[in-house]
Amino acid sequence: MPAFRLRRRTLLTALLAAALWPRRTRAEELLMQPRTAWDAAPPRDGLRPHVIDRVTLHHTGPPAWWGAPAAPEYLRIIQSFHQGPERGWPDIAYHLLIDLDGVVWEGRPLAFAGDTATDYDPAGHALVAVLGDYDVQQPNAAQLAALRAMVQALQVRYDLPPEAVGRHRDYAATACPGRNLSIPGLMDS
Ligand SMILES: [Zn+2]
Repeated sequence: MPAFRLRRRTLLTALLAAALWPRRTRAEELLMQPRTAWDAAPPRDGLRPHVIDRVTLHHTGPPAWWGAPAAPEYLRIIQSFHQGPERGWPDIAYHLLIDLDGVVWEGRPLAFAGDTATDYDPAGHALVAVLGDYDVQQPNAAQLAALRAMVQALQVRYDLPPEAVGRHRDYAATACPGRNLSIPGLMDS
């Protein structure tokens, strides 16, 4: 019977691998345009290492953004504002930013906590932001697909339950990410 046991074990291993494989594959699908693609300025001193235990949805607006200036330049403008005298943060506040085509751009490295002008501590949060103002804009299908893929990939990578996915306004007094932005199937309403 050793041969049978071995075969059965192999079969079980194969079934287990098949069950896990799609999750593994998705976990590696944090496909982003790197910081070099938008010519990001280097981070400054003051980054705080953190351990991600949740994913939080943001928008960058107001203002609204309809694609001009193009995403790379717009990201540089946002980073410059965040690193500038008004905010004084070490880097762009968000970890991932999604444009109108559903392209995901790398912001602050995920290893470091983001920043906020509102009253909550963003340590532990993976900050996913959609470019624009989703009180006045409607997210399109490409953006929602990218958002869903990114949130699911982050959930797999950091082993996060559904309850760990939220919106900025779940943590602080803010309209962010706007009344029109949620992830159908992942978040209510
Ligand atoms: Zn926000």
